[in-house]
Amino acid sequence: RQRLDLISTPGNIRVLCRLRPGTPSSLVSLEPGPGGTVTTCYRGHQRRFRLDWVFPPHASQEEVFRELESAVLSCLGGYSVCIFTYGQTGTGKTYSMEGPPEDPGIAPRALQSLFREMGTGGQHRVTLSMVEIYNEAVRDLLAPGPPQRLAVRQGPAGQGGVQVAGLTHWDVPSLESLHQMLSLGRSNRATAATAMNQRSSRSHALVTLTLRTASPSRGTSTAGTLHLVDLAGSERAWKAGAASRSQEDRDGAQRLREARTINRSLLALGGVMAALRARRPHVPFRDSQLTRLLQPALGPGATAVLLLQISTRPEDLGETVCSLKFAERVS
Ligand code: ADP
Ligand code: MG
Repeated sequence: RQRLDLISTPGNIRVLCRLRPGTPSSLVSLEPGPGGTVTTCYRGHQRRFRLDWVFPPHASQEEVFRELESAVLSCLGGYSVCIFTYGQTGTGKTYSMEGPPEDPGIAPRALQSLFREMGTGGQHRVTLSMVEIYNEAVRDLLAPGPPQRLAVRQGPAGQGGVQVAGLTHWDVPSLESLHQMLSLGRSNRATAATAMNQRSSRSHALVTLTLRTASPSRGTSTAGTLHLVDLAGSERAWKAGAASRSQEDRDGAQRLREARTINRSLLALGGVMAALRARRPHVPFRDSQLTRLLQPALGPGATAVLLLQISTRPEDLGETVCSLKFAERVS
């Protein structure tokens, strides 16, 4: 059976598409598989989008991870890999990335697969950090105490990227401790979300694993990184604003501001990916905190995978078309 080839040409961005299970609709139809398509019929206008991989409806968590596993494991060879879930709120980004405990998603499966591959030999060192970006503020989700806002500074000249002052990096001795740390980070994100009215759908969550592998015989070591990014909902600003007005939400202005910063950072991500894909000399990393933080991970030789989540609901169709256009722009 054909597999999605994610690692033979590093530097590329691959876009995969997963449909949230729901009532089938003639307005969104799929042709699954490699080079698969999604066809939308929006306001009487038919459009066909080609992606690197389209999962069939009702694809399982295992099926999704199977296509990503080789890229995940390439981190042990020193590669940098970023996996993003992108889409409108409610389309299954967090389901795909985290999954319920009884049916784990990409993150838990990736970690398990990495630890299995590393075995028990002592030549690997794993560190973990986890941040949330909300309204362009970066917060440490693994710091002791309530999540603190962190300063992001430009790194030393010539090295590219940024330094996040005071970011907690935990040493991860085992898979069990890793799961404990992740659930701490997740509960820190959830606490903040309740306090700030479901903020979790309006923030980006970044889990970063660094895998250092020592080769004693050669006296060298390699460092690979895996970034797992659950992006904020991609719905357009007008929708967030309209929804809050109809609920007579006095925080309407705040909602609108949030939606605009999210839009801006997703736009920046799209701009960076499009520039990388076209091998343009200037890549606009500095346009958002998200792309600044990911700059070292998205450079030449890195692999980026965007898992596009879409729904079949007729009322979501406008957003579905927007998500597919985003995918088209970066792939
Ligand atoms: P998002 O993170 O994009 O806002 P969620 O992951 O929270 O969306 O998903 C919204 C709802 O849909 C949740 O109740 C989730 O359990 C359910 N869901 C999403 N994708 C699937 C799937 N593939 N199979 C079963 N349930 C799903
Ligand atoms: Mg979510």
